[in-house]
Order: sequence, then C-alpha cells, then structure tokens
Amino acid sequence: MQRGPGRPAQGNRFPVNEMGLNVIMMGPPGAGKGTQAGRLARERGLLKISTGDILREAIREGDPVAVEAKARMDRGELVDDETMITIVTNRLLRPDARRGFVLDGFPRTVAQAEALDRIVTERKNGPLIVVDVEVPQHELVRRLAMRRICVKCGVNADPFGSAETCPKCGGGLEQRTDDNDEVVLDRLNVYKRATTPVLEYYRERPTFRVVNGAQAPERVAHELDTMIDDAAGAQRV
Ligand code: AMP
Repeated sequence: MQRGPGRPAQGNRFPVNEMGLNVIMMGPPGAGKGTQAGRLARERGLLKISTGDILREAIREGDPVAVEAKARMDRGELVDDETMITIVTNRLLRPDARRGFVLDGFPRTVAQAEALDRIVTERKNGPLIVVDVEVPQHELVRRLAMRRICVKCGVNADPFGSAETCPKCGGGLEQRTDDNDEVVLDRLNVYKRATTPVLEYYRERPTFRVVNGAQAPERVAHELDTMIDDAAGAQRV
C-alpha cells in the first residue's frame, strides 16, 4: 500500500546537506534491497549499512562474536538483538554516518526497530523513511539460487549478470552458504515471522512506502527516488 502524495518533490532531490536523510530498506532476502541501498547511498552521499555484510566481514576477520553468530546465519536464523543493536549503534556513531544512512537488513525485529527509533530521535538529523521492497516468493527463490558472492571482498555479484569474477576486486565467486535451496526457504519463513511485525510497526507512519521490487532494477530505482523525496517532504510539512 502506497501512502498519499504528500508534498511534491518539485524536481529536486531532498537536500541531505541541509538536514540529513535516513532510509530503511525493508524486504525479504533476494528483494534487491542491497543493490538499491548501495545506489541510493552513493548518489545521495549517505552511509550504507548492511548488517549481513558487516557480519560476514567480521567472520572473515575472525571476530569471536561474529564467528559465534555464523552457525545461526548458516541455518538462516536471526542473530540476537543485543549483538545487532550494538553493531548498528557503533556504526552510526562514526563521523561518516553524520549526514544520514541507508540501512539494509536492519531492523529485523520490533526490538531492533524500537532501538533504532531511540537512536534517530537522539541524533535529530532528518526524517526516517521506511521502504518495503515487495517481490513474490517464487521470484525470490529464483534470484537467490542465482546469487553469487565474492570470496575475497564479500560483494554480491549482480544476480542478473553472467559475471564469473567479482566486478569490484576480480576475486572468485561462490554461492553464499545460506543461499542454498533448503536454507533459502527457512530464511523466507524467518523473514515473514520475525519481520512482518516490524512492517506493522512502521506501516501507519507518513514516511512508510512500498515499492514493487519485481520490476527491472532501473524502474525500481526511479520509483524509489520519487518515493523518498515525497516521503521526506511529507515529514517536513
Ligand atoms: P543478509 O545478508 O541481510 O541476508 O543477512 C544474513 C544473515 O545475517 C541473516 O540471515 C541473519 O542470520 C544475520 N542478520 C543480518 N542482519 C540481521 C539483523 N538485523 N538481525 C538478526 N540477524 C541478522
């Protein structure tokens, strides 16, 4: 369900240098939210925070908390709220988060959403916009089966492309340990169970939007940009 039009964007991107902008990309695994979050963050000078990427990097570096979390990740289960809230709180304290953020993979529970609200209220740097990227389950399963990740830098390779090496660092590609058929269905179920209440938590806010993620990535990007400018305007009225 898309909210009313709010204030028109008047052809201008929301000026993040004036106020800051914070975006949460919600959506199941494979919805393309990571790709859109990366683009949005680059284009608007915001910090992209992907909690899955942070965990995978910490595992590669041998961080003991992350290594302990790996078993849960491999089973498609959620890592505990305390660990996740600490990771995001610490990341948001760093100077490169000052202008705002695009969150990918967080919050996944209502406790995480409540913690994030407290942080955003304290920071006072612009609206919090929540976008739900909707994609039918059969399309998610198809995309996740094709997804490859770089063994060296952890970047996701374009699921629609035919790359044989990482487009960023040239490293080899492999399937994520949690992208195999069995775990994928578990992850989609976990998403539905744990994260549907989070969508309900946000749904009535004037800054909540839904985008159809089954469209071509450029089309999703275009709609997302319009929605974010519109939602940012709605929040300022
Ligand atoms: P992702 O790359 O976002 O699909 O995340 C991969 C895995 O990391 C998830 O299946 C969870 O096990 C864990 N994870 C990432 N973000 C969170 C979060 N916000 N809360 C709990 N677990 C998370």
